[in-house]
Amino acid sequence: KVRVRFAPSPTGPLHIGGLRTALFNYLFAKKNNGDFILRIEDTDQNRFVEGAEQYIIDSLNWSGIPFDEGPGKEGAFGPYRQSERKHLYKQYALDLIAKNKAYYAFDTPETLDHHRKDHEAKGKTFIYNWHNRLKLTNSLSLSPEEVKSKIDNGEDYVIRFKSPENQQLILNDSIRGEIKIDTNILDDKVLFKSDGMPTYHLANIVDDHLMEISHVIRGEEWLPSLALHQLLYDAFGWKAPEFAHLPLIMKPVGKGKLSKRDGEKGGFPVFPLSWNQSVGYKEAGFFPEAVINFLALLGWNPGTEQEIFSLQELVSAFSLERVNKSGARFDPEKNNWYNQQWLQKKSDDELAQLFTVDLESKGISANSSYIKQVVYSIKERAVFVKDFWELSDYFFTAPTTYNEKAIKKQWKEDTPDIMKGVIDILKDINDFESAIVEEKVKAWIGQKELSFGKVMPPLRLVIVGDMKGPHLFDIMALIGKEESVKRISTAIE
Ligand code: GLU
Repeated sequence: KVRVRFAPSPTGPLHIGGLRTALFNYLFAKKNNGDFILRIEDTDQNRFVEGAEQYIIDSLNWSGIPFDEGPGKEGAFGPYRQSERKHLYKQYALDLIAKNKAYYAFDTPETLDHHRKDHEAKGKTFIYNWHNRLKLTNSLSLSPEEVKSKIDNGEDYVIRFKSPENQQLILNDSIRGEIKIDTNILDDKVLFKSDGMPTYHLANIVDDHLMEISHVIRGEEWLPSLALHQLLYDAFGWKAPEFAHLPLIMKPVGKGKLSKRDGEKGGFPVFPLSWNQSVGYKEAGFFPEAVINFLALLGWNPGTEQEIFSLQELVSAFSLERVNKSGARFDPEKNNWYNQQWLQKKSDDELAQLFTVDLESKGISANSSYIKQVVYSIKERAVFVKDFWELSDYFFTAPTTYNEKAIKKQWKEDTPDIMKGVIDILKDINDFESAIVEEKVKAWIGQKELSFGKVMPPLRLVIVGDMKGPHLFDIMALIGKEESVKRISTAIE
């Protein structure tokens, strides 16, 4: 059975890269009728941030990719917070010592620092591995009696992995293929710390094994850990899951990884939800469908021209084979485009409801069918619901100022007279429908031998206050005869 996990450390808000990792795990799980698990990797107590776990859960829920098992949704493999599993890990570290795959190390931070500096002075890098380990203080260099007495005396120790010497490892990654590593360059990573907690590496492997994870899908920044992880599985005698390392998400321009600062500079969100001073995608007005859609195409492609995908469509189309190896450039403009597309797919009812909230906050009320018609006529141009007001304010309030440039260009000496003529025509129309108003006004223009240019632009200006907006007769029909006449009269008074 396919079982995948998203395993964030609650050290801060989930950023867009983390959400993309969660999404790819979710898609892969659902595509294969598998389970999507959330595991909170909170063994590093120094980096724990209050509220981060809840933020991660809220973000997944808002995005529409809920987990099947995780904190608060206990399955058969819980608990799902590593801090609640801490009693479990030590026996595994001891098991590796018994198998001669790991060892106790008693070196103090000061000694290690000294070795590091000493090497540096000689232009070398200090690596705690086969090369140096016998010169250091550990159970490989000391006698069993010395080790026992140190432990009995309560001396601080860590447990380190004994990286093998002179082995050529062939690692497998579903996205990158075969990766060859010479084990001589690996260091003897700490598996178990002196504070009684496992390190990320040990806890991660033990939990993936115990939770029966079949595929590990995570960011490229974990690729350097793959060799150690494979060696750990081998040392335990466990079958390793399949690995897939997702490409980095790159800055919109220039080189390097997308950072929080890029968002601040560019004025676009990099977090799903707001966190402290940073506005999230939700609060910026993005639809979760749009966020999911653009994230899916950050590093994955369907192999067709299709760009708009619902979550269900993503589930059917997704495969790890179509995940790219190279970094994916983050394009805020494209993200806006996705939101615009998704906005068009929403029903006018839903959009009208969202717009009503905004209108009410401005102290404006109108009946719902009116709001719906307004939404219908302007939504095409909107990227966000919050754009509606600017695109449609004249539907709710008469203009109090007119675009000055437009006045200069459109307002001629004979304009007031022409506008008076329009008022007379409008007053005579009983069925104030767009097509009828249009027909009557145009007929009058013909009859008076006026040009459209003399009538339509100033008419728009007095109705809207600007040269913007949809078909003018649609606007007039919507605001109604009385209001249309009133706006023209006000302008020529
Ligand atoms: N806790 C790690 C993180 O914060 C998990 C990495 C992994 O998926 O193995 O990303």
